[in-house]
Amino acid sequence: MSYRQFVGAIWMKKALGAMHSLLSPRKEECLLCKQNSVLQVNELGLCHSCYTRIPWIRQALCPTCGRGETCSDCQRRQHSYFLRSRSAVRYDETMKGLLARYKYRGDERLKGVLGQMLVHSYRLLQMDRDTLHAKSDSVQELITFVPVSERRMLERGFNQAEQMAVELGKRLGLPVVRLLTRSKHTDKQSFKKRSERLDDLEHVFELNEAIHDEMVGCPASSFVIYIVDDVYTTGSTMNQCAKVLRAYFSAEIFGLTWAR
Ligand SMILES: [Zn+2]
Ligand SMILES: [Zn+2]
Repeated sequence: MSYRQFVGAIWMKKALGAMHSLLSPRKEECLLCKQNSVLQVNELGLCHSCYTRIPWIRQALCPTCGRGETCSDCQRRQHSYFLRSRSAVRYDETMKGLLARYKYRGDERLKGVLGQMLVHSYRLLQMDRDTLHAKSDSVQELITFVPVSERRMLERGFNQAEQMAVELGKRLGLPVVRLLTRSKHTDKQSFKKRSERLDDLEHVFELNEAIHDEMVGCPASSFVIYIVDDVYTTGSTMNQCAKVLRAYFSAEIFGLTWAR
């Protein structure tokens, strides 16, 4: 081989290498199973096998809360202060595991995954909302979230609903505003009877006064407010939050939760 052929061969090898790395997709760690694989659904950062295990809600059967099955909670509720609520996924064992990793074991990288999944809740809501009202310029859309108590904030270090709201806001281009505060600490809801839960939630949420004063000066004549939370159980938390907001704002209030 001549010197010229030798240099040519090296150049060829480099060029082929560069082309190869362009053509073969990069392998990354899946946020869920931690396996290195080609991420098929890059916006979520999950591998194909994990992505197919997500129990997306495709069709809302209960018009109020968006549950994929018939729903006694909404029939039983005497007054709904939110118009509709939609969730992205069913809260099955896989999703429980995912939330536990984020919320209790503090794997905060997952906030982007959950925030991205909330876009699906928003789309489900928009599918029905177009029939509700025509959008007008003087209506300001904004996102808020279910607050946690100070005690919970100290224990966990973050509010998952707030982080998910921020992630959703980035993706939708909507402002995220802390409209509510949580005045008292409630014990874990799931250990209580329905009537106890409702009593507990009465007067738990209050308006964030500082924000209210700011919003009074806003040129919008009315608001569309989306309340973000991680899991929708009976809807009583959502309803109490919406009740507080309705007392202060001329607003259409919707719920957007990750799981149902
Ligand atoms: Zn995976
Ligand atoms: Zn329902």
